[in-house]
Amino acid sequence: MQNPKNMRRDTALVHAGRKPEDYHGVVNPPLVRTSTILYPNLAAYEDKNHRYRYGRLGNPLSDSFERAIADLEGGFDAISCQSGMSAITTALLSFLKTGDHLLVADTCYPPVRDFCRNILARMGVETEYYDPMAGIEIESLIRPNTAVIYMESPGSGTFEVMDVPAVARLARNKGVVTIIDNTWSAGILFNPIKHGVNVCLQSATKYIGGHSDINLGVIVAADEETFARLRQMSWDLGVCAAAEDLNLALRGLRTLTTRMKQNAANAQAVMDWMAGRPEIQKLYHPSLPGHKGHDIWKRDFTGANGIFSFLLKPAPREAVHSFVDALTLIPIGSSWGGYESLLQPQYPAKIRSAVPWTENGALLRFQIGFEDPADLIANIEQALKIFNSNA
Ligand code: PLP
Repeated sequence: MQNPKNMRRDTALVHAGRKPEDYHGVVNPPLVRTSTILYPNLAAYEDKNHRYRYGRLGNPLSDSFERAIADLEGGFDAISCQSGMSAITTALLSFLKTGDHLLVADTCYPPVRDFCRNILARMGVETEYYDPMAGIEIESLIRPNTAVIYMESPGSGTFEVMDVPAVARLARNKGVVTIIDNTWSAGILFNPIKHGVNVCLQSATKYIGGHSDINLGVIVAADEETFARLRQMSWDLGVCAAAEDLNLALRGLRTLTTRMKQNAANAQAVMDWMAGRPEIQKLYHPSLPGHKGHDIWKRDFTGANGIFSFLLKPAPREAVHSFVDALTLIPIGSSWGGYESLLQPQYPAKIRSAVPWTENGALLRFQIGFEDPADLIANIEQALKIFNSNA
């Protein structure tokens, strides 16, 4: 077996974690379900470097997945978690203590705000939200007790692209830890660790899983010291991932690049058609010229994915409901990155604080799957007719 580290990315994704020679030629790694790991003798038990100690601390399956993602992101090592949200909370708790100040992008995945309000505030950590387009001007928000800058780029719901390399450089100079949610890129389109970020996490529930049937998160550390902090916290919190989910995520890696290209192409076809419709005021996707951070996206990312939002023209609530309910091929679902198209309403006016939302009209998010775009467009067209008849 060749070392995936010496392969180009897509070749590495095909080979990562597979050892057919160890399993009588069986092409895929076996699904390892275990809590208990047996020791050959007491000396092995007392050896703290003994390879596998207890199911929750790792096994050959979790190792395969974590190594594959760490290599994909260009990091030192990775930790798998039961969900993307668990990856976020584990990463934040690893670097925050009472009295610290935390900077969070205003466009973060909204439940991050709940965690900051419900848990971090109770711990005595103060959270301040910043404009994701601030770039190095974020420097004016850094205080002596700022411990972490938390980023998500492109941002949730509206997809603003941050100048991650500039923020990472600034943070390193100031001794502030940077953590980024890289779910949008799936580690395929952008590798923040290569641009100086300390911790890069993902919800593997999305593109990596790709089939809407797992809940999984993963955290990648840039270096050994950062990894040790994350490892300790994940142990303290009892973080671990389910065997089936790890197995399906490894399978998802084999087709990840191919699927994302198709998601992006289908979304582009739908966006191109929607751009010409008078009912659509605005589209939100990093690939669109004029989008916030489009130039940074062109500079830093190698491509796009299949998730975008759009602003309907102002209309009564009944018109918006009639439109959404008529989208039979794009049902409402709070996820993305799968094979099927989904819609999720966005309510930025209720959430955003650093950059108040002032647009008028309903903001809706589409995740575009592998249906024929012509069918999706026809479905949207008939829903817009119903929208117009109620507007
Ligand atoms: N990060 C982003 C950007 C997300 O969209 C989500 C889920 O929608 C998460 C994290 C949380 O992931 P999970 O559902 O795996 O906890």
